[in-house]
Amino acid sequence: MKRVVVIGGGPAGMMAACRAAECGAEVTLLEKMNKLGLKLSLTGKGKCNITNTEPQIMTFIEKYGENGKFLINAFNTFFNKELMEFLQNRGLVLKELSGGRIYPDSDNSWSVVDVFVSYLKKLGVRIELESPVKELLHYQNIIGGVVHENGTVLCDAVIVATGGNSYSKTGSSGDGYQLARVTGHKVTDLYPGLVPFNLLDMDPRLNGLKLKNVKATVTGEDEVLSEAFGEFYFTEWGADGSVILRLSTEVKEEVQEDYLTLHIDLKPALDGQKVHERILRDINSNGKLSFKNMLKELLPEKMITYFINRTRISEDTKIANITKEQRETIVKNLKDLTFTITGTRSFDEAIVTSGGVELSHIDPRTMESKKIKNLYFAGEVLNIDGDTGGYNLQAAFSTGYVAGENAAKEQENNEEN
Ligand SMILES: Cc1cc2nc3c(=O)[nH]c(=O)nc-3n(C[C@H](O)[C@H](O)[C@H](O)COP(=O)(O)OP(=O)(O)OC[C@H]3O[C@@H](n4cnc5c(N)ncnc54)[C@H](O)[C@@H]3O)c2cc1C
Repeated sequence: MKRVVVIGGGPAGMMAACRAAECGAEVTLLEKMNKLGLKLSLTGKGKCNITNTEPQIMTFIEKYGENGKFLINAFNTFFNKELMEFLQNRGLVLKELSGGRIYPDSDNSWSVVDVFVSYLKKLGVRIELESPVKELLHYQNIIGGVVHENGTVLCDAVIVATGGNSYSKTGSSGDGYQLARVTGHKVTDLYPGLVPFNLLDMDPRLNGLKLKNVKATVTGEDEVLSEAFGEFYFTEWGADGSVILRLSTEVKEEVQEDYLTLHIDLKPALDGQKVHERILRDINSNGKLSFKNMLKELLPEKMITYFINRTRISEDTKIANITKEQRETIVKNLKDLTFTITGTRSFDEAIVTSGGVELSHIDPRTMESKKIKNLYFAGEVLNIDGDTGGYNLQAAFSTGYVAGENAAKEQENNEEN
């Protein structure tokens, strides 16, 4: 019987341990924290967006950018349908929300963790909590065991599923990158991914203002770097919301190097000309209205004073007296309200880590390292990160499943791969 050690009890590690045990291996799961699945418990604002119903693998992988193609093999083995069946077969009731997002019906992410904990116990997986792994043991490029804080475990295969660098209080503090580096693997540059932006001179009056359906664009010196539609909200230090998280991943490198500009289109359904006509209509039909009262029809209450300051038009101005130049300023600010992005929030506020173990060092069919035999990597420790919508968990579960299955295979089978 093959002895498999899994390092890390997050979604990738728990799935890997389950699959390796299902395939007949004797499995030890070593987790640094005092509970399994701590980060999983925080996902989807505590409700856990497990996966997405998008049925086409080739469309699904677009959500991971360039590196998505690495996942094709894993998804061919274990995709969203298989993940949902896995959970449903173990008693978890699922529900689908907008955009194909799948959640547990309980609205409680711990119910997902519980499915794994019960199944791991049923399969006889040995779970050792508070056992951070410090070192991988290998000889002549073949893995032989691990050293953790409380001892040494000798084994035939090791799966590193230690997660990324973000929300380090959950246990994912980048240990896997170091384990990878010292065993000869390249780790790419690491950036906070799906992370809010810090904005220059944030006006406290905007704090908490939520805008639905805005178009947001990020530009560099003179080029558009990325644009997205969706929900946006201001915080005391900057901008957050689904549209910002998406943009942050697209501009992850540029935003660390330079100040960028965030452009918010508050009226994305109307082009500039239409907005202009709309304002002219107000002026012609109700010229005695004050500028402030006109804005009440156009903007959320919380934004009006701020907007008036940006346009430098007095709030009491009768709209009939607004000049052509002032009209252009109003339209410009409605269609292109700009803010200076000074950087992102830190890893501790990032949903994922962008970057990780270099994919060319890993066999995508098995998740085995090409450098050290019988060493596998799964989950966010790899250089894979996806959009919001359940994509990051699906990648963790799928790569975990494949790593577990292959780590459990006896030697001859591994050599066939
Ligand atoms: C706030 C938040 C919300 C999110 N919401 C969603 C969502 O709704 N949907 C979605 O798809 N994705 C979501 N994500 C992303 C998703 O949680 C991660 O991509 C996913 O958890 C990665 O799984 P993993 O198993 O690779 O790593 P992790 O979940 O990070 O698990 C790694 C485990 O390894 C352990 N570990 C680390 N080092 C060691 C060591 N040396 N020895 C032993 N154990 C170790 C850690 O303690 C941890 O338990 C969210 C992330 C955050 C932070």
